[in-house]
Amino acid sequence: MTEFAHQKCISANCGTTYDIGQSHFTCGECGSLLDVEYDWDRLPVPNSLSEFAGRWQNRSNPLDFSGVWRFRELLPFAAADQIVTIGEGQTVLRPAPQVARFVGLPDQRLFLHYEGLNPSGSFKDNGMTAAATHARMIGAKLAACASTGNTSASLALYASATSLFRAVVFVGSGKIAMGKLSQALDYAATTIQIEGDFDDALRLVRDVCQRENVYLCNSLNPFRLEGQKTTAFRILESLDWQPPDWIIVPGGNLGNSSAIGKAFQELKSLGLCDQVPRLAIINAAGANTLYELHARQGVVWNAGQPDRQRISEYFRVLDETNHRASTVATAIQINRPVNLEKALRALETCDGVVRQVSDQEILDAKAQVGAGGFGCEPASAASVAGTRQLVAEGVITSDDRVVCILTGHQLKDPDTTVAYHAPGSEAFQRVCVAQGIHQAPHANPPQIVANNLEEIVDVLRRVG
Ligand SMILES: *Cc1c(COP(=O)(O)O)cnc(C)c1O
Ligand SMILES: [Zn+2]
Repeated sequence: MTEFAHQKCISANCGTTYDIGQSHFTCGECGSLLDVEYDWDRLPVPNSLSEFAGRWQNRSNPLDFSGVWRFRELLPFAAADQIVTIGEGQTVLRPAPQVARFVGLPDQRLFLHYEGLNPSGSFKDNGMTAAATHARMIGAKLAACASTGNTSASLALYASATSLFRAVVFVGSGKIAMGKLSQALDYAATTIQIEGDFDDALRLVRDVCQRENVYLCNSLNPFRLEGQKTTAFRILESLDWQPPDWIIVPGGNLGNSSAIGKAFQELKSLGLCDQVPRLAIINAAGANTLYELHARQGVVWNAGQPDRQRISEYFRVLDETNHRASTVATAIQINRPVNLEKALRALETCDGVVRQVSDQEILDAKAQVGAGGFGCEPASAASVAGTRQLVAEGVITSDDRVVCILTGHQLKDPDTTVAYHAPGSEAFQRVCVAQGIHQAPHANPPQIVANNLEEIVDVLRRVG
């Protein structure tokens, strides 16, 4: 199959193509990002998406069990016997009536799509299964990534589960959620903690991979994004192939939003989906490059010629003032999103919008997601906080069917959860107040009770 796939520079003034066996992942001519592209005319494509539903009956086949590879005709870069899978993509999408009320929508209009059920607890596994497959295709023995935590957890898991390659992960030395760091260590990845933040770590790992010919697993890797397209397919599948009106995602390195845009672009051009949902990408206010460039300064995809001068000027000022990303939502604490241009393209494909939300809004929304029967890590809750804002603005209306993607598992960052639910505590000071979060309106603090039956009964009576 691989002869019908190639890599192609996304820049309209360039468009250089590269073989599928190449692994530099940026254009050798102009430095832009690459896409994986297919000669769809020469590939078997289903006549309708509902054909994929039949795969459920064949779940003993690992490729049909995988929530990524059961859609393999829509990411056909690998031969079946090369595919690496560990059962990723078992996600659920359910209505969330209580959270709907919180964001201001009717009960049955808000759906939460929980990616935290993946093997390493975040949506990153959708992409890592595809990157691991490509790494195997080219015979890589060492794979690396820089990470705010979840990418490293995912890469470490694929390395330990398959023994196809060894994993080296680079993490910054600032905030990293303990759940994520513990995974990299437990899955036996070589873990390098560098001085500096994620943006520094990514720059470094790109240089290291280039120099030492190590396989790069950040979302700069276009194969990863092929796997991440399947989140869109599974959302459609869960809604019986009726596209929602909106899909809302948190925006960090912008791989997820880019992949969702590419998925719908391809579905549309293959005639498999005629109504493309609108996309909302939600930045944390403390890491809001996309918001600043797109929503404030009007930078758009512009047919593959975005205003690159304005973008590099923005980064130049960030560097000059040593402006660092800072948010309680560590998974999106990124100021230099590598997939910026692809995200601009996705915004065009999906008639998208970008908003920013404060850390206070993020943790308040997170508490509602937990109380509403899901649970997620802080970054994921940005999608719910952003939805609330868009409903208040009237951009999302009560007729709309809205899907928020919960990107990561609740237990990734228990420290932040416990801190929020204990206002006044030392942990609240350290985790919340330090990030400008002064209230916890949805806190559910533990009730401290003496070892005494009467007192306990009192508490129970108050619950009702
Ligand atoms: C990686 C990650 C994000 C950010 O996704 P991007 O594709 O980098 O924009 C958001 N939430 C969680 C939990 C993540 O792990
Ligand atoms: Zn190029």
